[in-house]
Amino acid sequence: MSYNETKDRNETMKLVCVLSLLLLILLLLSLYLMNNLEYPTANTEPKTQYMELPTLENMSLSGAKQVLDALDISYEVIPTQSRVANRVEKIEYLGKEEDGKKLYEIGTTVKLHANEVGADKVIYLTFDDGPMVRYNLDMTVYYTTEELLDVLDEYGVKATFFLAGYQMVKSDRSHFVNELYKKGHLIACHSYSHDFGKIYDSTNDFIADVKEFESALENILGKEKYNSIGKYIRFPGGTNSNGVISGDESLEYINAIRGEGYKVYDWTLLTNDADDHYRLAGESDKDYFMRSMKNGLEGAKGKNKPLILLMHDKMEMTDVLPDILDYLIGEGYYFDTLENCPEYTTAE
Ligand SMILES: [Zn+2]
Repeated sequence: MSYNETKDRNETMKLVCVLSLLLLILLLLSLYLMNNLEYPTANTEPKTQYMELPTLENMSLSGAKQVLDALDISYEVIPTQSRVANRVEKIEYLGKEEDGKKLYEIGTTVKLHANEVGADKVIYLTFDDGPMVRYNLDMTVYYTTEELLDVLDEYGVKATFFLAGYQMVKSDRSHFVNELYKKGHLIACHSYSHDFGKIYDSTNDFIADVKEFESALENILGKEKYNSIGKYIRFPGGTNSNGVISGDESLEYINAIRGEGYKVYDWTLLTNDADDHYRLAGESDKDYFMRSMKNGLEGAKGKNKPLILLMHDKMEMTDVLPDILDYLIGEGYYFDTLENCPEYTTAE
């Protein structure tokens, strides 16, 4: 081959190579364009999906966790400094709000702001027999329920009020029932009549009396609020120490009322604010109530019982409640309503 022939051949080879490369680029480009023209809106990211989130604020932490577990929504608890233990104070979530509905972005984690506290550091404050008024000597009225609510507000604490139906319906105090609801305290049943002779005659009489309480409460609160409250009861005098029923008979009453959907609560601590039997000579209300409660706390240590403190809606208690709260807070206790507390009766 001549020199020129070789050169020509090399030139041709080069040309073929460049052309093939160009063709390949064109082919790839057109493939790319075709792909993109064919699917102009295709998005490689999965589409965000939402679901409605139920209202969790103010719910017990255990209740909120159950709801979220059932919906398969992951959550984490963000600790707060609240005096109220184990209650959802605020939630944070990814998503949006539409028509007042919380729309949660599926697959993300919901943050529950709450002070999660172990059972041994939670006190369940309970007040029986209200709403109550006392008349001063000059016949001015003293609303003890109002006083108690003011103190609880001041300390940022929630309590359970076992209301007596016959007190609740009186025209000068039924508004306290709505007040209790509004402030996030738990309204619970303490029978309608609080009449031992009547309610402990038979389980049927007991249930009839409780039904009377229920319709009175529904009347005062309205259907919606009434239905939003669970059913919690404390037997007048307790399940096993009321002097009328005891032993197997108590169990019959407990089972009968559970059949109506109630959870039953006695107490594990008391202030003795309704019983002067153990008062020392000359002992003040404050000293007597505090001593009784401290003895109870000492006795409850290591017993694995919920710390349920029995008090009454009465004038003497309104004076001592700040001292009680100061003491318990100083000892590192937190407070909750009975919604988070397992049932507790002395009869069982
Ligand atoms: Zn009572």
